[in-house]
Amino acid sequence: MQRRQFLFALSGLVAVYATRSFAATESGKDTVTIMQVSDDGKALGRATLAKVRKDAEWRKRLSPLAYHVTREQGTERAFSVPGYDRHEPGLYRCVCCDNALFDAKTKYDSGTGWPSFWQPIAPENVRNIEDRMFGMTRTEVQCALCDAHLGHVFDDGPKPTGLRYCMNTVALRFVSLPRKS
Ligand SMILES: [Zn+2]
Repeated sequence: MQRRQFLFALSGLVAVYATRSFAATESGKDTVTIMQVSDDGKALGRATLAKVRKDAEWRKRLSPLAYHVTREQGTERAFSVPGYDRHEPGLYRCVCCDNALFDAKTKYDSGTGWPSFWQPIAPENVRNIEDRMFGMTRTEVQCALCDAHLGHVFDDGPKPTGLRYCMNTVALRFVSLPRKS
C-alpha cells in the first residue's frame, strides 16, 4: 500500500470512530463541516454549512423510489437500477443535496448489483450510524449534509481500505468528468 493511500485510509477510519462517538450530538446540530469538491474532483476546502432540510422539494423532485430510499431508509432491488455497474470517470453526488460523496476511481465491481466503493471522497462528507433494523447490526451510511440514507458499509471490501460502501444507485447523482479542451 502506498503511504498516501494508507494515510487516507487511516484518516477515514479515525473519522469513522470519531463520528460514531459524536453521533448522538451531531444528529441534532444545525451545521456540519464537509469537504467541498468541484465537478472535476478537486478538493476546494472545508466549509461549515447549514444542514439541508428540504422535504417538500424532495417529495416533488425525487422519484418515488429515490425518496423512499433516501428519506425513508429504503433499499432498491439489486441489479434493478441502471447505472449500478457504471465505471466511467467522474464523481457521485448526493441526489438530495449535491454533497460530493464518492470518486469513480474508488468504485469497483462487487458483484452485488449495487454500486460499491472502497472509500468516500472525504471522510467528513458521510456519516456512519449503527443500524439494528431487521435484527442485524449493520453500519448505515448517511450523507453528512442532509442525512439522506445512502446504504451501508461492510468490512469485506478490497484493498487498500478493506471497506465496501454498498450504496443505492438512486441515492447518487453521477457527474461525468468534464472533457479537457
Ligand atoms: Zn445529501
